[in-house]
Amino acid sequence: MRIWKLACLAILCCFLLVGCTPTQSGDTAKADKAPQAQVEMAVPKQGIPVLMYHMIGDVPDNDAVLLESHFREQMKFLKDNDFHPITLDQLYDYMVHNKPVPVRPVVLTFDDGYPDTYSIVMPVLKEYGFAGTVFVPTYDTDQGTRLNWQQVKEMQAAGLTIASHSYHHERATEMTGRTFADEIKKSQAELKEQLDITNEYFCYPYGGYTKSAGDALKAAGIKLAFTMDPGWAKYGDNPYAVKRIWIGNAVDIENFKQRVTTPQYEER
Ligand SMILES: [Zn+2]
Repeated sequence: MRIWKLACLAILCCFLLVGCTPTQSGDTAKADKAPQAQVEMAVPKQGIPVLMYHMIGDVPDNDAVLLESHFREQMKFLKDNDFHPITLDQLYDYMVHNKPVPVRPVVLTFDDGYPDTYSIVMPVLKEYGFAGTVFVPTYDTDQGTRLNWQQVKEMQAAGLTIASHSYHHERATEMTGRTFADEIKKSQAELKEQLDITNEYFCYPYGGYTKSAGDALKAAGIKLAFTMDPGWAKYGDNPYAVKRIWIGNAVDIENFKQRVTTPQYEER
């Protein structure tokens, strides 16, 4: 009987040791990480493509739901061609202060906080070391159909920027200034409470915006607000009406290449 107890104890110890190993090697890997090679910086005269993604998955006849294979092909293209996905802080410094950014810049944004942003997008961005931003409508978080706060916190810890997509995901164009201000206030408060951030970036639900919505965002401390108007984001553009580039299944890799290399890309 006693020998069985010892055997069980030995097996348990083995499991514990194996369970600990990844954490230890992960920490060591982080500490040993070589400093990144110096990336060439420049002020992009033509602007910066801000790519707009929604759900990743397979929903026939819905161009907003991008096939996972297309998404992976696009990220691989960016990596293989030495593009540099930049943060919203870097985009702001360029758009408002004309500061240089890494060459071949691109911004990756993911709207609505779908579960696949956690399960598909985050691992790919981590693998490539890409910056990315997730715009979450904060009310929808923890409602069962979108990301929950635990997942959002993991994405934040993985280095992604989490920003506001309003509170209830209602159109800014169909609200009075006061209601819209309330939506921002609630969203900001929840991001502060859950993630301990003072959020500075906003994405208009359905893309629609007004001058008064921009004013309300500015008053709430927002520095850039993103639309669905097509085109590249340039220095001197209205920071409360940042253009973005649609990415759907109709965008094949050749058209994708155009979208990230020229502001005169072919519309689809
Ligand atoms: Zn949305």
